[in-house]
Amino acid sequence: MSFCSLGLCDELLKAVSEQGYTMPSPIQVEAIPAVFKQRDMMAVAQTGTGKTAGFSLPMVQLLSEGERPQPHCVRALVITPTRELAAQVAKSVENYSRHMNLRSGAVFGGVRIEPQVSFLKDGIDVLVATPGRLVDLYNQKAINFDQLEILVLDEADRMLDLGFIDDIRHIKNLLPSKRQTLMFSATFSQEIKSLASSLLNNPLLIEV
Ligand code: AMP
Repeated sequence: MSFCSLGLCDELLKAVSEQGYTMPSPIQVEAIPAVFKQRDMMAVAQTGTGKTAGFSLPMVQLLSEGERPQPHCVRALVITPTRELAAQVAKSVENYSRHMNLRSGAVFGGVRIEPQVSFLKDGIDVLVATPGRLVDLYNQKAINFDQLEILVLDEADRMLDLGFIDDIRHIKNLLPSKRQTLMFSATFSQEIKSLASSLLNNPLLIEV
């Protein structure tokens, strides 16, 4: 299996080869076609399996192929449990989309909110965020979810462990119900299953 046969566009094939990736990892082989089908997905995968590229590559391709509506609207939102993971995922998205005309970035707590508010004002296609800061920015009307197409919940099990369940449920209620949702978790506990059933619509289940 190659990245080309998974249906990645030339801009992404160039970016992955610049990252030094020669072959897709097992999670990428499963997840990339599922995301392209625009299906919801629950993926049980550990860190280090290449899950970030598994959702980011097809996600940025779907966005780059679609119509770009108003410039201030977030079209894809990735929620992560920690600021370190948010920064890391945003860096990966930026690397993968370097040959595309997409804006991406991360917002998280523990730093001043004002620079993030002005960053968001310039418009962003892919936003990576931790739950608390995302809610704060929404409450300050710095983000608009009207044009949201794709939601990714990364490391959902850690999100629950860190007590973010109420924030997640709150954020879910702010998003358009017609969207594609992808959820990643290292474990598939009863709690994760119940969160998945509240967020996902007829999901494909991927376990690697
Ligand atoms: P992740 O599980 O998303 O945190 O990725 C773990 C590491 O694997 C990161 O350093 C990625 O850059 C790297 N990686 C992801 N996909 C591939 C691939 N297909 N080939 C080689 N390295 C990869």
